[in-house]
Amino acid sequence: MQLPEFDIAIVGGGVVGTTFACALKDSGFRIALIEAELTSQAVSRAQAYSISLLSSRIFEGMGIWQEIRSQVETYKRVQLTDANSPNAVKFAPNDIGTETLGYVAEHRVLISALHQLLKSCSNVELFCPAKVVKTEFQANGATLDVILNGEIQQIRSHLVIAADGSRSPLRQQAGIKTFGWQYGQACVVATLKLESPHDNTAYEWFWSTGPSGILPLTDDRYRIVWTTNRAEAEKLVALDDRQFIETFQQRYGSKFGTPQIEGNRYLFPIQLMHSRRYVLPQLALIGDAAHSCHPLGGQGINMGIRDAAALAQVLQTAQKRGEDIASLKVLRRYERWRQWENLIILSITDILNRTFSNQIFPIVQLRRFSLWFVQNIPPIRSLVFRIMSGLTGRAPQLAQR
Ligand SMILES: Cc1cc2nc3c(=O)[nH]c(=O)nc-3n(C[C@H](O)[C@H](O)[C@H](O)COP(=O)(O)OP(=O)(O)OC[C@H]3O[C@@H](n4cnc5c(N)ncnc54)[C@H](O)[C@@H]3O)c2cc1C
Repeated sequence: MQLPEFDIAIVGGGVVGTTFACALKDSGFRIALIEAELTSQAVSRAQAYSISLLSSRIFEGMGIWQEIRSQVETYKRVQLTDANSPNAVKFAPNDIGTETLGYVAEHRVLISALHQLLKSCSNVELFCPAKVVKTEFQANGATLDVILNGEIQQIRSHLVIAADGSRSPLRQQAGIKTFGWQYGQACVVATLKLESPHDNTAYEWFWSTGPSGILPLTDDRYRIVWTTNRAEAEKLVALDDRQFIETFQQRYGSKFGTPQIEGNRYLFPIQLMHSRRYVLPQLALIGDAAHSCHPLGGQGINMGIRDAAALAQVLQTAQKRGEDIASLKVLRRYERWRQWENLIILSITDILNRTFSNQIFPIVQLRRFSLWFVQNIPPIRSLVFRIMSGLTGRAPQLAQR
């Protein structure tokens, strides 16, 4: 069965694909958003993300930040510590002249707010649950075979956006090569409920086995993203709650009291992956389909949100100029904008992980000196934080409204 024709078909309605659809709310493009997972399942994903100031400004430009803001936690301090070293780098809002340094948002909060906004996007049709099983590109557009209501239906679209995650079947089908590597590490993620109020501080601890982020959540909870070697990660996940808390306290001391575990702990593998191309004629990759990075510094989702806002801007500008939005000439503008910025972030997280996850004496000395340098030279501290918040790159217009 043939469905109506669209200007843009977005494959993948995770946070990035849905942000992209919503960013084109007033564009007049006819958009199909195709997501394999039921919305009720997507909402229950137990993930939480560090949301940078730039991402919050993009959501503000889209008109949904007010709603998100009331359900997320702010962090007003960030503390970086090299293992048990008594010296830490401490970032505060006055380092960058803002009221806060960033936010931590649960997946359900972001996806619910985006779906609420989708309801008012009369130009976007959501196909969900619907899975794209084949895509064929022809001279005048693409045909997507979609399993919808138990049968294969066809969607025609002028331009296809791959927002289908790091394994991106679309990217693979299109023959786009990637480079990267698996880290010999994995990430254990858990939510801890504290006995007393937290102080809105986000921590990044660098251990020789890998860095750990501890991020404040609403209701006096902390999200721990504990990166370590795979063997230890598997052991940490297999511990019962009491043993996990004991291990946590041995590592992080008494600072967090005796917290309770909330929900399940889970483990996810870590890789660095970067697509050699973000675009082909009629196809563009965004979010994890284009890149995935080490969780250090919570960059992944923020890079994807910036991709979405940047591509939306490039397409709307091309539309105003009467250009073909699916042409390589137009899509390359998005690639030139985002590919280098993302590569810089991937490189920084990789270098930091390698530098801090080892015990070679001169490197330990060098990194401790670097931390001292960042802590004691305010302009350097400000620059480091601005880079990691996305504030030094080219900001999409959505973030400037
Ligand atoms: C297990 C796990 C846990 C994580 N936990 C954290 C965390 O705690 N904090 C953090 O910052 N980051 C975390 N990450 C990374 C983070 O989830 C990603 O950076 C982010 O989700 C990328 O968003 P995205 O929209 O690009 O891709 P995704 O979230 O992967 O979304 C891709 C979407 O495409 C859909 N899709 C795929 N193929 C098709 C198809 N053929 N047809 C239709 N739909 C399709 C999928 O159902 C999915 O909804 C985690 C990653 C994993 C794998």
